[in-house]
Amino acid sequence: MSGWCSASHSFGAVDNFERPRRPLRKVIDMPLLDRTLLGPGPSNPYPEATAALSAPLLGHLDPEFLRVLDETCARLRRAWGTENARTLPLSGTGSIGMEAAFANFARPGDVVVVGVNGLFGERMVEVAGRYGAEVVRVDHDWGTPVDTERVLAAHPEPSMVAAVHAETSTGVRSDIRELALAVHKRDERALVLADCVTSLAGIEVAIDAWDVDIAYSGTQKCLGVAPGLAPFTVSPRAWDRRVPRPPTWYLDLNLIGAYVDGSSGGRTYHHTAPVAMITSLHAALGRILDEGLEAVWERHQAAGARLHEGLAELGLSLFAAEGYRLPELTTVRVPEGVDSAKTREALLTEYGIEIGAGVGAFASSVWRIGLMGHNARPDRVELVLGALGRVLGRR
Ligand SMILES: *Cc1c(COP(=O)(O)O)cnc(C)c1O
Repeated sequence: MSGWCSASHSFGAVDNFERPRRPLRKVIDMPLLDRTLLGPGPSNPYPEATAALSAPLLGHLDPEFLRVLDETCARLRRAWGTENARTLPLSGTGSIGMEAAFANFARPGDVVVVGVNGLFGERMVEVAGRYGAEVVRVDHDWGTPVDTERVLAAHPEPSMVAAVHAETSTGVRSDIRELALAVHKRDERALVLADCVTSLAGIEVAIDAWDVDIAYSGTQKCLGVAPGLAPFTVSPRAWDRRVPRPPTWYLDLNLIGAYVDGSSGGRTYHHTAPVAMITSLHAALGRILDEGLEAVWERHQAAGARLHEGLAELGLSLFAAEGYRLPELTTVRVPEGVDSAKTREALLTEYGIEIGAGVGAFASSVWRIGLMGHNARPDRVELVLGALGRVLGRR
């Protein structure tokens, strides 16, 4: 049977009718592996985020939890750089943010221009299309940033313009500030959507100052929390233009808002909030804001710069265009004659370090090294440089 949880993926007995070979409470039959997660995500969570997961569980309508939820939304506003009342964590990984954005803000037939320069831009095209948008895609070479002029030239009057801020598939940063300001200068009614999954709490994001209307992120990248939530924010302009009854019930922001926003009186149950995950995000954001957002960006910048330098010292070259390289996600060209997969396997089995393969046409010719959140530290950089140098026989 080829189920969704096929036997090859299971950690224990899956057949209820068979006596399990080992006690079920020991479902994960492996030592507590301590991996260093330096791929494109998930990253190792901040210790505060991990500790919060073991706090006693509260009910999702418990006043104490609602206080944590409200504070999480307030902390998210600070992290996003916004005063948007509609700022909240959606239940689901980063992708749910993309889905919610198109479901709630793109009507069938709406013209949505998408700047595509990697996998996640491709996905925006796919998701927008599924909600019936008339998608105009503007393709760029992978490894280069989205070009504002080309996006503007693609359509005179789009209802939405969308792009990925930090393209995790290629390690490239696009100038969302320039794009959003240019789109709104031409037509102040157009909505600008930014995917900030790999940028929030890693590099500068300033929703209000940049005039971005809709943005989503994910907890598992630079926010330093396990995968499971998608921070989301909506400008008043976008809220006024929302789809009144989106074709998805679970992601209907009107319904979710009635639970998250306690300002209008009661909280209406929609779905059970992932209490433990929100508590964990609350803790990570506390830690990030205590350190200071700018200090956090600086820490990512310093770690990325040192990694880029160290890779050059190993004789390796970078994939992303110079000047647009992300510090939190570095793409490296696999040297001639080196087996990409075997190298990653050696890093994992010999050093417990996970790095990522490339994506699409670059699957075996590029590696992706993430330094996100808690991993944006000098010791992680030296660890991966040392291990990679050894595996490649260059140290
Ligand atoms: C990881 C990622 C996503 C998807 O997030 P998931 O947590 O995998 O659902 C979307 N966009 C970008 C830029 C990402 O890096």
